[in-house]
Amino acid sequence: MTTILRARVAHTPRDPFQSSGALEAFDDGAIAYDADGTITAVGAFDDVRAKHPGAAIDDRSGCVALPGFVDTHVHFPQIPVIGAMGLQLLDWLDQRTLPEEARMADLEYATRSAERFIRLLAANGTTTALVFGAHFPHAQNALFEAADGRGLRIASGLVVSDRNLKPELEVTPEAAYSASKELRDRWHGHGRLRYAVTPRFSVSCTAEMLDACQTLLGDGVLFTSHVNESLGEIDFVRRLFPAARDYLDTYERAGLLTDHSVLAHNVHVSDSELKRLASSRTTIAHCPSSNAFLASGIFPMARHVAAGVRFGMGTDVGAGTGLSMLKEALVAYHVQMVRDQGHMLGPAHLLWMATAAGADALNLSDTCGDFTPGKQADVALLRAPEGSTLQAVLEHAPDIGAALGAIFTLAREECVVEARVSGEPVYTRTK
Ligand SMILES: [Zn+2]
Repeated sequence: MTTILRARVAHTPRDPFQSSGALEAFDDGAIAYDADGTITAVGAFDDVRAKHPGAAIDDRSGCVALPGFVDTHVHFPQIPVIGAMGLQLLDWLDQRTLPEEARMADLEYATRSAERFIRLLAANGTTTALVFGAHFPHAQNALFEAADGRGLRIASGLVVSDRNLKPELEVTPEAAYSASKELRDRWHGHGRLRYAVTPRFSVSCTAEMLDACQTLLGDGVLFTSHVNESLGEIDFVRRLFPAARDYLDTYERAGLLTDHSVLAHNVHVSDSELKRLASSRTTIAHCPSSNAFLASGIFPMARHVAAGVRFGMGTDVGAGTGLSMLKEALVAYHVQMVRDQGHMLGPAHLLWMATAAGADALNLSDTCGDFTPGKQADVALLRAPEGSTLQAVLEHAPDIGAALGAIFTLAREECVVEARVSGEPVYTRTK
């Protein structure tokens, strides 16, 4: 049975940093998909209906259908620390965040946090995410169970560290290996889940720990961590790894950089590091609200584009200011617009960064990120609340570009009425 979802449809099947005309939109549009959620057509409603005369029509004419958002960097234990102001990275970790992460030792607390986190991702229209996990295996297991239960596409893994955190968050490389392996073997490839090997960052890992992480890769397992976020952190890493060329080299020498690697931030990066990121096909999770919130700096987007380094976008909650990829894209826009030699961005860039770029960063380009036939019907359905400022602007928007600009500027969690993965609702707003 084919379903036709009728709405105002917009997506970016091409990369706007590489080609003009990347945005494809249909005012009275439709996405047709079959019983297993595979898209069979996208286009103007009349054309799509003519191709599928027997299809069931799901009329959401008052809504905008965008590809489900892809968050490439977000920490599940950190919802309670959103908004912890006035601190830079290392103090923010020490004073606010690591104590909260330590609370995940309590199974009941961790389970409740995991379920809430997954629900809130979906409530923000995020259907795919690379989630930075917890330091405790039972808490990480709870995250996978919650993600599996709701049906989101989640890659995640146990966070491992063996120095410079808090004693209760540190384990030996041997213990990290065996706990990670058990979780990987249980969850990698289960339903829509994948495993991501996750050393917290080089500040909190010895070379032995990073070597242990490397032995867990292969068979589509991802690697994720942080790099080049703040100057204080970079200086700390330099002292911890005196033989390394730079921060990136601490991962590189352990054999951790491949086309399945995703490193968050990369704000303070050398030309040599950019070159090596491009040649290893490592991707970057760009987290602009976090970078501003912790005074880390501004992401050199134009240099990444010029060097051919792939990047998606991440909310980086809890240093990031919320789970909305719409808001995250607006912050990316703001900081690039005020940066010297920044990138002039438009609505197509923002939509690309919030959707298809993330799918590419997570090696899911064949599955999701836009509405090209053959991919899965992962959809964020948005509607301006009655009487809202967004509704007023949309009433006058002359074209889809203007409408999208208004959506990224004004739409937030309350505008997401439904999220679907492979055509199945994973979240429906009830009020
Ligand atoms: Zn992070």
